[in-house]
Amino acid sequence: MSADPGDDGHVRLLLGAYVLDALDDGETCRVTGHLQGCDDCARVYAEVAEASALLALLRAEDLRE
Ligand SMILES: [Zn+2]
Repeated sequence: MSADPGDDGHVRLLLGAYVLDALDDGETCRVTGHLQGCDDCARVYAEVAEASALLALLRAEDLRE
């Protein structure tokens, strides 16, 4: 196993859409499976998910004003 120079095999580029549930079934399965075995992408996913949740909270509060 050698290190990939690009993002091949990783799912970082898909995580934003994954958090928003905007991927098709095949991509969702691939991301879910990859996150279980890749600490790097799992960490990025946690950050993206947290940021997304915070944004949703802020938007909800804005709408209440
Ligand atoms: Zn990965």
